[in-house]
Amino acid sequence: MPRLEPDFVLPFALPPEMIPDVAHSNTSRPQAEPQDLAPLVPGTLYLVATPIGNLEDITLRAIRTLKECDFIAAEDTRRTGILLNRFGIEKRMISCFQHNERRRGAEILEALKAGARVALVSDAGTPAISDPGERLVRSVLDAGFRVESVPGPCALISALTASGTTCDQFLFAGFLPHKSGQRRKRLTQLLASPATVVLYESPFRVERLLKELVELDPTRHVVLARELTKLHEEFLRGNPVDLLQDWQKRPRKGEFVAIISGMTGAQTPTDVSDDMLVQTHLPSRERSDEPDED
Ligand code: SAM
Repeated sequence: MPRLEPDFVLPFALPPEMIPDVAHSNTSRPQAEPQDLAPLVPGTLYLVATPIGNLEDITLRAIRTLKECDFIAAEDTRRTGILLNRFGIEKRMISCFQHNERRRGAEILEALKAGARVALVSDAGTPAISDPGERLVRSVLDAGFRVESVPGPCALISALTASGTTCDQFLFAGFLPHKSGQRRKRLTQLLASPATVVLYESPFRVERLLKELVELDPTRHVVLARELTKLHEEFLRGNPVDLLQDWQKRPRKGEFVAIISGMTGAQTPTDVSDDMLVQTHLPSRERSDEPDED
């Protein structure tokens, strides 16, 4: 089956024949007639995961939720608008991003009180995973309303599961801090765990990460999962020294998840403290794809 276009944010249209017709017709829902499907529940916040590159990864339930909710709170209404457009969904949107999440939260609570069914989406992947949503979920739950997950794509899970590294236990640490001292401390803590470490990393900091790993423990097995679900998806595997050599011949492009094998054998420290389980909500300054300042 041909892939859909690699990045759904590209501003040109998908050929109509490549858009799954689930968006336009109930008849293509497998094994469920419309009357069998539970209607959305009033007073509920739906966390809707969206594709991280390949539009085929949207779920039937995500489409239905986005179609049937009363409005969508989106990290970036323009990006989500493009996604909705591709699936023929017309829906009112409000923006809900890191810097207005608190204010929007109050508005969303008012709407839930009035019985609204609200969908929250981030730019790509699962809301609240290194994306806005966590604060909103807490305030919705604190106010006594329902939160429902509409699961789907998540870069960390796609990367981890295809990496070949153990998935038995892992520490997801989102984006590392930018500041050298904090970053080194964090990485040192993470590497002291026997669990596989999963990080999100901007292409501008992959080289820095590899150099840090060369210094801290060149024996680790590292996997860089690049452009997952997109046309140029690839997995770069090796120790930090080899990967660094390879990296230096490459353009700094694409989205990356870094998977680092856990500490093994006699070196394994006994404790992983709770505060290592982990910060996915660093300020946007630290999440951006900008090059480092320091
Ligand atoms: N909420 C999203 C999720 O569920 O994965 C993550 C959002 S976070 C702001 C964006 C980061 O996720 C990127 O910088 C990259 O590290 C990772 N990421 C997102 N899409 C990716 C992809 N297609 N391939 C590799 N990494 C990806």
